[in-house]
Amino acid sequence: MSVVVIGAGQAALQTIISLRQGGYEAAITLVGDEAYLPYQRPPLSKAYLSGKMERERLFLKPDAFYTDNQVTLKLDTRADSLDAAAKSVTLSNGETLAYEYAVIATGSRPRLLDVPGRQLDNIFDLRGMADIDAMQPLFVEGKKLLVVGGGYIGLEAAAVAAAMGMRVHVLEAAPRLLARVAEPEISAFYTRLHKDNGVTLVTDSQMTGFVGDNAVRGVEMADGSVIDADIVITGIGILPNIEIAEAAGLTVENGIVVNEVGQTSDAHIFAAGDCTSHPNDLLGHTMRLESVPNAIEQGKAVASAICGAPKPYHQVPWFWSDQYDVKLQIAGVPLEIDQKVLRGDDSTNSFAWFYFTGDKLTGVTAVNRPAEFMAGRMLIEKSLKGEAIADPAKLADEAMKPKEWLA
Ligand code: FAD
Ligand code: NAP
Repeated sequence: MSVVVIGAGQAALQTIISLRQGGYEAAITLVGDEAYLPYQRPPLSKAYLSGKMERERLFLKPDAFYTDNQVTLKLDTRADSLDAAAKSVTLSNGETLAYEYAVIATGSRPRLLDVPGRQLDNIFDLRGMADIDAMQPLFVEGKKLLVVGGGYIGLEAAAVAAAMGMRVHVLEAAPRLLARVAEPEISAFYTRLHKDNGVTLVTDSQMTGFVGDNAVRGVEMADGSVIDADIVITGIGILPNIEIAEAAGLTVENGIVVNEVGQTSDAHIFAAGDCTSHPNDLLGHTMRLESVPNAIEQGKAVASAICGAPKPYHQVPWFWSDQYDVKLQIAGVPLEIDQKVLRGDDSTNSFAWFYFTGDKLTGVTAVNRPAEFMAGRMLIEKSLKGEAIADPAKLADEAMKPKEWLA
């Protein structure tokens, strides 16, 4: 009996915590290719980048957790292959580990921007602690930051830099910011917020390469113009790390295909986090999610199955982002929206949008409105289960408190 967990990130650690809490007593080995114990990524593009959070606070658990829970650590070590028939994992240091159950929690990696000049100094992806440690010394008041990609990564980094007095440009290829994750009215809000903070935004942008000698000096655009830059961050999306699963013969379709407890097409191999494509019974479809709450809930589901008391993953997906003094919270992933209801005034920094698909509440996006977010999330779950919920007019009525919607 033993579990080998591949990838030492959010989903991996949660699986281990929940295995021990669930009474799993056999050996657990954690294999991670980064040199660190599992740490949280969200602060990387926020408080850690701004220098307001110390490195020690990034770690999800102290060293003692791993000794107290008898977890064998293989850090700075890659799992190169997984042999499903032999039930073994081969590591980059030449070792082979036998398992009863393997858990693939390999996360995702940045999509590379493959254009001329990509190899120049001071061009960074933003995924791990090492990326921030390398770029942070260049975050100096007055320097020019150019961000490629107007998604969460790009905008959070832009907000940190603008607040430090840097001159910031964001290039987004799509017609609007946050197009993959938010509705047009939210893109419009973030466009205003960043402009108000001095950031120059270019949508529908087409950059063709980087210019410079050793270090980057600027970004060349399709029309031949050059935008000056001392430092560049690319945040153009991620690719799930599925290669080890694919090579092992597991079913992979836009992520490692798992069931509601994270089991792959091999009964002895589970997967959790960014790398999975999983069913969501509430939403009624399969999805791949890139978020901490998803990694945590999937980790719990995997552990429950290995411990023999399966508790299926069952959650309304939710997300957050911190930019300047604005907290964005999103619940639900509506595929189609038939009606939108606004609570508050979205020309201010405090409002919430509610989204309906038919008569069902399927999404809420809250800006500095935590109570609306919390109640909205619960309402989505009720609504998706077929329960009648507050009518749209009540959601918009500021005289009614969010908790009253749940009564
Ligand atoms: P990860 O945390 O990425 O862990 C996977 C680990 O596996 C990595 O260390 C990887 O190097 C390792 N690995 C990969 N292949 C192998 C192998 N073959 N052998 C050994 N090790 C391997 N989400 C939110 O919900 N809110 C936020 O505000 C937020 N902010 C973010 C900010 C940044 C800068 C980034 C990069 C992400 C952010 N996310 C946020 C997303 C969130 O961090 C991820 O969804 C989450 O970390 C996924 O957890 P995971 O365990 O699946 O993957
Ligand atoms: P993202 O949300 O996919 O956004 C990337 C954006 O870059 C997309 O709008 C994309 O447009 C655009 N783009 C692609 N190629 C481009 C180009 N050549 N020039 C200009 N723009 C281009 O991904 P991300 O912001 O890089 O984030 C990476 C991961 O970190 C994701 O998993 C994300 O969820 C996670 N993250 C989450 C948070 C949070 O939850 N708060 C914070 C930071 C990071 P197209 O879609 O048209 O390609």
